[in-house]
Amino acid sequence: MLDTDFFRRWMAAMAAAVDREADRLTELDSAIGDADHGSNLQRGFTAVTAALAKDAPATPGAVLTLAGRQLISTVGGASGPLYGTLLRRTGKALGESAEVTSGQLAEAFSAGVAAVGQLGGARAGDKTMLDALLPAADALGSSFRAARDAAGAGARATVPLQARKGRASYLGARSIGHEDPGAASSALLVAALVEADEPPGAGEGTGTAGAGGTTDGSGS
Ligand code: ADP
Ligand code: MG
Repeated sequence: MLDTDFFRRWMAAMAAAVDREADRLTELDSAIGDADHGSNLQRGFTAVTAALAKDAPATPGAVLTLAGRQLISTVGGASGPLYGTLLRRTGKALGESAEVTSGQLAEAFSAGVAAVGQLGGARAGDKTMLDALLPAADALGSSFRAARDAAGAGARATVPLQARKGRASYLGARSIGHEDPGAASSALLVAALVEADEPPGAGEGTGTAGAGGTTDGSGS
């Protein structure tokens, strides 16, 4: 089972990843956008961290809806409402239970990803965050690691695509040859699930991600 603490660790791991990778995300956005994706997400997840510390939400669903609200109110640009919708809708789908299964998370996350598609009007292959999120949602039913790998592969696969949504689409064919920044950051969000499941020093994961068990113990 995944408890409220797991979801706090997920958001904390994402905040740390965004801090670590902010320059790379901004570099990607400077190639096909306006060079603010790293700073946008840094501002957003800094606000998420502060809000979670202040409000201490009591359920997994409440952690994600609070995080989503923070992203919507603090991140300017396209990615704020889209990420905010992803987390809010996922949180809403988790309901009010104190613990959820990884299967319930996979289902809720799929609902969140679908809401991103609805809000932004993008589909697979449009060179957006959905190109990482859609394959991740499909793989999440197997394991967190499978979802992480699918999101990473999906983000890398945006390189040869031409953007059909968002700011990068204004570039037309010149958007080809660059990884989409939102897909890259979405891969970080999904990778953060693995980190939340296998906190450093814990020795082993909770095993709730299923499929093959988590025997690696990453560095401990
Ligand atoms: P902005 O484009 O307003 O500067 P960001 O730089 O923070 O916002 O985020 C850009 C990312 O948002 C893109 O790389 C893309 O992944 C994502 N994005 C933009 N528009 C859409 C959309 N309509 N649907 C899904 N994702 C989108
Ligand atoms: Mg931008």
